Amino acid sequence: MTERIDPGGTIGILGGGQLGRLLALAAAKLGYHTHVFCSETGCPASFVATHNTCASYDDHNALDAFAGQIDVATFEFENVPAQTVARIADAVPVRPSWKALEIAQDRAKEKAFFADIGAATAPWRPVHSLDELAAALRAVDTPAILKTARLGYDGKGQILIENATDAASAWSQLTNDQTLDSSAAPFAVLEGFVKFTSEISVIAARGLDGQTQCFEPVENVHKNHVLHTTTAPANISSATAKTAVGIAERAAEALNLVGIVAVEMFVTSYGGVLVNEMAPRPHNSGHWTLDACQTDQFTQLIRAICGLPLAEPLRHSNAVMTNLLGEGINNVDEYYADPACHVYVYGKSDARPGRKMGHVTRLSARTNT
Ligand code: AMP
Repeated sequence: MTERIDPGGTIGILGGGQLGRLLALAAAKLGYHTHVFCSETGCPASFVATHNTCASYDDHNALDAFAGQIDVATFEFENVPAQTVARIADAVPVRPSWKALEIAQDRAKEKAFFADIGAATAPWRPVHSLDELAAALRAVDTPAILKTARLGYDGKGQILIENATDAASAWSQLTNDQTLDSSAAPFAVLEGFVKFTSEISVIAARGLDGQTQCFEPVENVHKNHVLHTTTAPANISSATAKTAVGIAERAAEALNLVGIVAVEMFVTSYGGVLVNEMAPRPHNSGHWTLDACQTDQFTQLIRAICGLPLAEPLRHSNAVMTNLLGEGINNVDEYYADPACHVYVYGKSDARPGRKMGHVTRLSARTNT
């Protein structure tokens, strides 16, 4: 099998949410077919992909049939089971590889990985028991955040501990949360609470030839642990921006990445950068690139995994991306009326409170900060 996949080839996408949908659209633009594998019917990506398989991630027959019809596989969420990736990787290249997923799936491995590449994180300790939590609180100090090591997202599986005397109730709350994976070790991490001045992220792309390109740092504001807005460019010093880009580049290199990785970071009052987490897939904080850059995160990912040269990810406009959550998707007329706004609707039928239903990016004239 040649490493480069030419237009006309089929890209398999594990996961069918809005990231898969926007990825399938980018693939189509470059002449590729897509095959979405998702465990739910009527998922956002299914309406725009060339082919769909709706089956469980442990359905071997469905996985084998899927792998038989694609030239390369990628994923739009990082909690893909190891066995699923291994089975597909027996038949076709999976890009990014299992190594990137394995690290991103486990907060403890992730923090160790960033330490290895010389990137600082908040002080942290692995925690498997209440005794270990008490010791970790002495080492990390309060306030601190107890986070499940695996399967947490959008603030799920996170408990703020203001005082060491709250350790027992926090531990019981985490261990009684039925939605979390208690079989994984280490079960949780305790992280020092960072009094950040801003949150930023950088998306790095790395091609089959090892070439790396980064989108510039953007500033993210979360509400209720869910991304609310992304502003490009981030209002940070050029030294801080350089540090942040350097971390994302080193992460991509160290993972031997073929694809893209989003690295989320905290900026502290003295301009220091602490890594929060990474995602080796398209990222909500990269949606602004669709309208404000010469290329976008989805196209860059398709180029990387198909062995095409990467594009230069230059920004031609300033941008503010706002997520449209829940019923907010029904109040977009003001955005349609504004020629600077680019509206995206993900095609989800049920506008549950807090659910990501779409986003809007408002452009303005480019400035450097
Ligand atoms: P995460 O799921 O780890 O990305 O956390 C979601 C959000 O919670 C982050 O974007 C921050 O706004 C906040 N957060 C997470 N960890 C910390 C921390 N150690 N200190 C302060 N805020 C945090």
